[in-house]
Amino acid sequence: MQLPLIYYGNPILRQKCMPVTEITDDIKALVADMIDTMKAYDGVGLAAPQVGRPIRIFIACPYIEEEDGSMTLGDPIVYINPKIHSPSDDEIEDVEGCLSIPGLRLDVYRPEMISIEATDLNGKIFHEELEGYNARTRMHENDHINGVLYIDRVSPAVKKKIEPTLKGIKKKYNP
Ligand SMILES: [Zn+2]
Repeated sequence: MQLPLIYYGNPILRQKCMPVTEITDDIKALVADMIDTMKAYDGVGLAAPQVGRPIRIFIACPYIEEEDGSMTLGDPIVYINPKIHSPSDDEIEDVEGCLSIPGLRLDVYRPEMISIEATDLNGKIFHEELEGYNARTRMHENDHINGVLYIDRVSPAVKKKIEPTLKGIKKKYNP
């Protein structure tokens, strides 16, 4: 079932989210709904606070490189209580957007590589080493569960430039 999205300007997006203590039927249903919602909006990732639930869960689709060099998207992976560690010193700049901040896309610097540890829907801990856009999407979603948005990571000059756009989004999507 598709859930309504929470947009920029809603204080839920600024909360530090609470850990998940037990993977209940409610949590499983929420994750299924988050997947439906992400697909409905053509997203590649979605965090629980974006559908109004300030808990430490996000989903993200992996980018898979095909033999001919093209990229396809795999099925969404569920990250519960994720922990990112060992970010590379090298940072790279690439473009990001966010379903909660419609119509805006900005270049953001982030570490090129990270490791991530999380619990899956069966309660099993898993570990991934990620690079490039796969690392970027996990860092973007992980920011969400800490109340951080990608627009917080641009330079003060860019932030100033997008201020009117952000004001417009806040007004339009928060009736
Ligand atoms: Zn986002």
